[in-house]
Amino acid sequence: PISKGSKAMNLAVIGAGYVGLVTGACLADVGNRVHCVDRDAARLHLLRGGHLPIYEPGLDTLVARNAAAGRLVFTDDLPAAVADADAVFIAVGTPSREDGAADIGQVLQAAGDVARSATRDLLVVVKSTVPVGTCDRVREVVEAELARRGAPCELRVASNPEFLKEGHAVEDFQRPDRIVIGTSDDDDGALLRALYAPYNRNHDRLICMDIRSAEFTKYASNAMLAARISLMNELACLAEKVDADIESVRRGTGADPRIGYDFLYAGAGYGGSCLPKDVRALIRLADEYGAAADILGSVQAVNLRQRTLLYEKLERFFRGRLAGRTIAVWGLAFKPATDDIREAPSIDLIGRLLRAGASVRGYDPVAGANALRALGQDGFSIADDARAACRGADALVVMTEWREFKSPDFRGLAQTLRARAVFDARNLYDPAYVRSCGLHYEGVGRAAGR
Ligand code: NAD
Repeated sequence: PISKGSKAMNLAVIGAGYVGLVTGACLADVGNRVHCVDRDAARLHLLRGGHLPIYEPGLDTLVARNAAAGRLVFTDDLPAAVADADAVFIAVGTPSREDGAADIGQVLQAAGDVARSATRDLLVVVKSTVPVGTCDRVREVVEAELARRGAPCELRVASNPEFLKEGHAVEDFQRPDRIVIGTSDDDDGALLRALYAPYNRNHDRLICMDIRSAEFTKYASNAMLAARISLMNELACLAEKVDADIESVRRGTGADPRIGYDFLYAGAGYGGSCLPKDVRALIRLADEYGAAADILGSVQAVNLRQRTLLYEKLERFFRGRLAGRTIAVWGLAFKPATDDIREAPSIDLIGRLLRAGASVRGYDPVAGANALRALGQDGFSIADDARAACRGADALVVMTEWREFKSPDFRGLAQTLRARAVFDARNLYDPAYVRSCGLHYEGVGRAAGR
């Protein structure tokens, strides 16, 4: 049944990153009292001063409104945050280990911290993306700690993977496609159903299952998405060879409702903080259990190859002589509407260009500072706007499909770019039109003559 309403709860969210901050702010906005806990002092300092440590559309007003109302508090005092909590969400990072497996150290540490300070019964909700079996590990850690303390309280564990998309996170949280709940306990399921009731009014979006299936669902979703991108990229490479245009093919293919248009773009390979690491983690999980991961292995291999594609195109165009060239790069974030550059294809490309002796002038509406921090300043600079990035540059590469890059002044670019060349990693432009403006144009999966 769809819950009609619920009483406000006391919540703690551990980890105030892309997921934790959005979760905390959204849950506070519907009336709950939320403590957001983070161990990063700089992050807390920013948040307490009314600034966001990340860029996410709409999040600033949401945080400001709820902080001002006293419903959203930022703290490093985990015991105080947990003291009166009905539920504690764990939204800390699960980065790749060197062998590709997900490192669940931060999750176990957070769970141990909660158990060390809990004074009442509460529900621990694992929101981080974690390999199947992690919630069992969390339960073990929690029970061992409670037993050691002789604490007279019970901590239950549920899985509630997060499906928000960066750049669209607030909207995704408030209007989710689905809310996956993993628990076999009716009371815990009822608590989460009540908590999510404000987002579940129109029709039932809650999908309840056992914990292990919930953990797996998140990886399965990202595996599907990554596979779609890699398949499209493989088709794009073939399209280029056979003189077909992948953009036309995309329109013709996506028209089938079984295929659909979403997430069907060829490009520079998938990046970001989730798909690459989650595909790696799933491959390692399969390996651990002696299961085949043939498709996933290919998805990953195609992606690695695709990420060198733009560099190879540039290298070919400049006949192997990139040293001394200046390349403008529009778009540094791994996708539009975020400042996240983790595993962004642009960072990969720029690193290669710098190593080849080229200089790079980058521009991104919000991710410039993060890119500068990641790449250092040697040969790499950030321009104030898109046009300034092209001044003195030989060629332009468009790496992220920010809206402001969609209709540039190509005639102006033909005057500015010394080698008059545009490389379009997102197939944003009409090749014939760009060429008619006097520019060399290359997209992904688009025949040279088009
Ligand atoms: P993030 O790096 O932005 O944030 C993690 C935060 O946790 C950091 O601020 C860190 O300081 C804090 N932290 C780590 N250990 C802590 C501890 N013991 N106590 C207090 N704070 C601690 O990470 P993110 O992008 O929000 O991702 C978090 C999890 O959610 C990951 O498992 C990720 O795979 C998953 N996820 C991410 C997205 C996304 O789009 N970013 C979407 C769905 C799921």
